[in-house]
Amino acid sequence: MSFTSLGLSPAFLKTLDAEGYSEPTPIQKEAIPAVIGKKDVLGIAKTGSGKTAGYVLPILHNLQTATVSQHREPTVLVLVPTRELADQVHEVFQTFLPALTERLTCLAVYGGVSINPQMQAIGKANILIATPGRLLELAGKNAVRLSSIATLVLDEADKMLNLGFKEEVDRILALLPPKRQNLLFSATLGDDLSRVQQVVLRNPQVIKITDEADEIDLIHQLAYLVSEEKKGPLLRYLIKHGDLKQVLVFASSTIKADGIVNKLLKNKIHAASVHSKLSQQTRRDTLRQFKAGELRVLVATDLLARGIDIEFLPCVINYELPRSPKDYIHRIGRTGRAENPGDAISLISPEEMDHFQLIQKKMGKRVKTLSGDQLDLQGY
Ligand code: ADP
Ligand code: MG
Repeated sequence: MSFTSLGLSPAFLKTLDAEGYSEPTPIQKEAIPAVIGKKDVLGIAKTGSGKTAGYVLPILHNLQTATVSQHREPTVLVLVPTRELADQVHEVFQTFLPALTERLTCLAVYGGVSINPQMQAIGKANILIATPGRLLELAGKNAVRLSSIATLVLDEADKMLNLGFKEEVDRILALLPPKRQNLLFSATLGDDLSRVQQVVLRNPQVIKITDEADEIDLIHQLAYLVSEEKKGPLLRYLIKHGDLKQVLVFASSTIKADGIVNKLLKNKIHAASVHSKLSQQTRRDTLRQFKAGELRVLVATDLLARGIDIEFLPCVINYELPRSPKDYIHRIGRTGRAENPGDAISLISPEEMDHFQLIQKKMGKRVKTLSGDQLDLQGY
């Protein structure tokens, strides 16, 4: 099946080809016609299955056919949970924007960087990608009006509707026209539908892509049961012994992340961290370096658990488990994306074992668990 048979303008074909998108992914097959048809959508499909282009392409298609007078204020708003994801979604829009005949602009706004350039640009942008806090700040300064927003996207929708963002998202919703198209996407959207109904007033089209029974899992999961003090040596063993060239390690706190990095550096393993205590410039540079394959180990908090797309990332290691089973799914979903397989390894201390059982139960999968303490970790 081709992209154009989904109703998408042939103007996108050259870029799709250049990006190596030879055919639409399952979520794209269903989401693209629904979004073009101006429906509200709840799109649920696994990590790395192309949800972003599933909304970016039809939104651009629709903008192209809208009349020029509709383009004086932002008409599309995408809300995301992190600055890094805002940059990434912005990049996807930028990739496909040149295919349009009309010159439309797209802007990402988020905190941690100077607000002045954003104040200048935001009112004129057609498409806004934003983290909630900074958007509210800009709206509070009257730098932008959101009353022309015709399409709202909540990427990582369950996270955006979660308690942590509730107050801010509610304040943003109050600034939007009630009649609009709502598009909600996530790999883990399900239980909290009452909250969804506060955003999506019409009956949405629910698109849920589930794995085929015979589908081979792209993410190879493995766990090591290991005492807390041996986690460091085991991590270094896995990296050195496994000759891992690019690893994303998740830690439970900023302090833990920095501690792991220090130990790795002492052992001559090139590593750096990304978390909320670092400057935005450092966060951006380090992630860029890692994406470019110039940094062997990136140690991150759950800041990078959602949405971040690192092409061909071969391995994710959970140094500690996340509290939420959903975050486990998102963390390991940084590998095994776009049809490329990858490994997800979790280091489980005896204290974490009960929680790991719960995660496996929620996930509906059992993870092969080996004994880490039986490995010879001398010298690591
Ligand atoms: P999700 O949001 O579902 O986790 P993304 O939208 O980040 O996934 O896409 C994951 C990767 O798949 C990206 O690198 C993207 O460029 C790639 N991709 C998306 N659609 C296609 C397609 N139709 N064919 C090939 N690759 C694709
Ligand atoms: Mg995504």
